[in-house]
Amino acid sequence: MSNATIIDEKVLNECLNEITRALLQSDVQFKLVRDMQTNIKKIVNLDDLAAGHNKRKIIQQAIFNELCKMLDPGKPSFTPKKAKTSVVMFVGLQGSGKTTTCTKYAYYHQKKGWKPALVCADTFRAGAFDQLKQNATKAKIPFYGSYMESDPVKIAVEGVERFKKENCDLIIVDTSGRHKQEAALFEEMRQVSEATRPDLVIFVMDSSIGQAAFDQAQAFRQSVAVGAVIVTKMDGHAKGGGALSAVAATKSPVIFIGTGEHMDEFEVFDVKPFVSRLLG
Ligand code: GDP
Repeated sequence: MSNATIIDEKVLNECLNEITRALLQSDVQFKLVRDMQTNIKKIVNLDDLAAGHNKRKIIQQAIFNELCKMLDPGKPSFTPKKAKTSVVMFVGLQGSGKTTTCTKYAYYHQKKGWKPALVCADTFRAGAFDQLKQNATKAKIPFYGSYMESDPVKIAVEGVERFKKENCDLIIVDTSGRHKQEAALFEEMRQVSEATRPDLVIFVMDSSIGQAAFDQAQAFRQSVAVGAVIVTKMDGHAKGGGALSAVAATKSPVIFIGTGEHMDEFEVFDVKPFVSRLLG
């Protein structure tokens, strides 16, 4: 090994250590950071780093690309088609921003000429239907729910049936959340999914949940066929490193991010600015 290579190795390790610190602070899971390091060491060929080039820059670029790759599960999520009925079911823990995100998703599509509708199959949280009703009314989106019926499966099925008859092309089903991962929640979700046969299940994740992201996403994935992820509260101070965990655990892409409490504070996920932010 030449002297130059030894110096380059030092630069590489320094770079990796710096970036590792930033990623851990951004809540990227330790295991994923380690995987990234291993891959970078394989990709960056120190002997090939031509003299005179800015080595730090080359290494940083390689890390950036690797993180982008880690956010790409390799297959796109199911994409609903306008004027063709799709059922999209939302799942996530209570407080993750699920109900808010359902409306944002509906509103986003409505502005593009779709005919969305919202179904509130959350009979667990008092006030869930009122919240959805309020949001839907504000956005002029048809909604379905019940104050009396306590069976979420029944409501979900009735709502989906009704909006299919009304030729809505995007039927969004909001399900119950819980404060923590509980068997009863997952069983209920599984039943709603089985009864409504959604074309897409979206897992909603709060960007501030930190290192808990992997286990949480995996637990949801084990009960229902999660096909896409939405990360909320990206307007806060959390950098959203848990998104890498959610992608790894669900093998699904992030499709949107939530950037505020308002209906239009919602953006299509764009990997490059997201990774830039993770790196600090
Ligand atoms: P659910 O229990 O998962 O249905 O969560 P909610 O939709 O009721 O949201 C919980 C809280 O998070 C509410 O106060 C929302 O206004 C807020 N919230 C949701 N998404 C975002 C977001 O992207 N940014 C911010 N700042 N707040 C959000």
